[in-house]
Amino acid sequence: MVVCDFCPHHCQLAEGQTGFCRTRRNDGGTLVSLNYGQVTSLALDPVEKKPLYHFFPGSYILSVGSFGCNMRCPFCQNYTISQHGAEEVQGYLAPEKLVELAVKYQKQGSIGVAFTYNEPLLSYEYIMDTAPLLRAAGQKVVLVSNGQISARPWKNLLTWVDAVNIDLKAFASDVYTWMGGDLETAKQTIAMAVAAGVHTEVTTLVIPGKNDDREIFTAEVQWLAGLSPEIPLHLSRYFPRYKWTAASTPRQTLIDLQAIAIQHLHHVYLGNV
Ligand code: SF4
Repeated sequence: MVVCDFCPHHCQLAEGQTGFCRTRRNDGGTLVSLNYGQVTSLALDPVEKKPLYHFFPGSYILSVGSFGCNMRCPFCQNYTISQHGAEEVQGYLAPEKLVELAVKYQKQGSIGVAFTYNEPLLSYEYIMDTAPLLRAAGQKVVLVSNGQISARPWKNLLTWVDAVNIDLKAFASDVYTWMGGDLETAKQTIAMAVAAGVHTEVTTLVIPGKNDDREIFTAEVQWLAGLSPEIPLHLSRYFPRYKWTAASTPRQTLIDLQAIAIQHLHHVYLGNV
């Protein structure tokens, strides 16, 4: 039996068993990464699409995704790659090859590489190998993440990361548990990124009946403002996807939450509207 301490699931894996995230397996008593360099998506996106609104606005970024996720949001907007395994892989991209591509796309306005689409933290080993090469080539390193990672690996990653957008999916522990995650871990991840001086933006996908309670949302934005009122907050509109069929977030709900948020934070944006 091997225990993986990478994220709050702390999976106990018997020989040959794969973890909750589908990306780590106990092979002969050693945890191995199953998605190292395994690419499911590759695209040149505007940096605002990540979303990052205060990090080289108007530029592009080469965006790469693999497979796997350590949450199980029933409404996942990206479930075809996050909730599936190796069958979605398009090919293997060695760290050096990704750096070559990033440098090539610089001519088209790209500033670096964003690890995104599925949960990039689960590509920890790949990013730890690739990020120093990207830095040496003058490329920026961005992560778009659910923030579900233990403190030690996060501290290591932060050394190599220039900007992050981290989900704060709710501000109630029971809602986080329903999504297969842990609120305190998400808060710790955001706080550590801010403390490390890494450019940090935060996204909350607003799900009617789950995280649109005015009082709880006020506590969320007050907590963020306590870290820094300069943290940009993106309030995204949910659309029915995957296993969740409830109607899309009413525009008025987003407008009402934005009105609460701007009492505490200086930069609050609405997305998917
Ligand atoms: S990273 Fe994967 S295997 Fe490790 S604890 Fe988290 S879900 Fe489990």
